[in-house]
Amino acid sequence: MPELPEVETIARKLQLVLPGREIQSIEQLHPKTLHGTPEYLLGQTIKQVTRRAKIIIIHFDNNFSMIIHLKMTGQLIYLDKKIRVGGGHPTTDWVNQLPSKHTRTVIHFTDDSTLFFNDQRLFGWLKIMPTAELSVVFTLLAPDVIDEQVTPEYLASKLQKRSSTIKQLIMDNTIMAGLGNIYACDALNVARIHPQRPAKTLTLAEVTTLLAASKVVLQQGIELGGTTFDGKYVDIEGMAGQYQSVVRVYGREGMPCLNCGTPIKKIKVEGRGTYFCPQCQL
Ligand SMILES: [Zn+2]
Repeated sequence: MPELPEVETIARKLQLVLPGREIQSIEQLHPKTLHGTPEYLLGQTIKQVTRRAKIIIIHFDNNFSMIIHLKMTGQLIYLDKKIRVGGGHPTTDWVNQLPSKHTRTVIHFTDDSTLFFNDQRLFGWLKIMPTAELSVVFTLLAPDVIDEQVTPEYLASKLQKRSSTIKQLIMDNTIMAGLGNIYACDALNVARIHPQRPAKTLTLAEVTTLLAASKVVLQQGIELGGTTFDGKYVDIEGMAGQYQSVVRVYGREGMPCLNCGTPIKKIKVEGRGTYFCPQCQL
């Protein structure tokens, strides 16, 4: 599943090509993927593409929006005569002719350009709704890690009295959204905090350091276009995200910790592969 920096990167790429395009038609190739009434968007022009948590939002000028979640294997690919832009689960679909057998929804624009939503496993979705109702959807989501409203005091208030591991709670989307496994491991290494510490044992100073580290690794991921670990995620322009070139612990078992040189260890925390330094993360 893509992490927040990957989804942010896709939203930014689509923001460069979609605004101003008018919808000619919407083709549904699988009944499970698209929700809402496509007719509301016919003849409408795209205003803006944004992101909230891991949801991409396409805003239209008639005050309707389309929200998109890629889930495990979703892809969004924009195609016109000159360029091909997008992202998501890397398969041959991102270089081959489209639509493919995994194409679920096709949005045709009046200038003959096209936006394809492909999804092998059918967990991803697109929803059409009045823009005014977005706030209802998003009030159920905790704020993004990189939002200003996520302060050390906010995070500390969510961690106090909790016996769960700190790694599990910083990845909990009801506390703050956007920190997946790769970035959680890296943030804990930067902050020098052991992933299995019970959350309630962190001091406010440690929470402050950990939150700052979380924001830094996510921002770095966004600037570098995300990660390409396990081949699960590759940028569609053919330029793989570069976060892997600066990753601190994730996938680096046995390699030296960037803080202290000690070999990185791999353990399981709540069933997830977790990398940390046994020397400097306490
Ligand atoms: Zn270390």
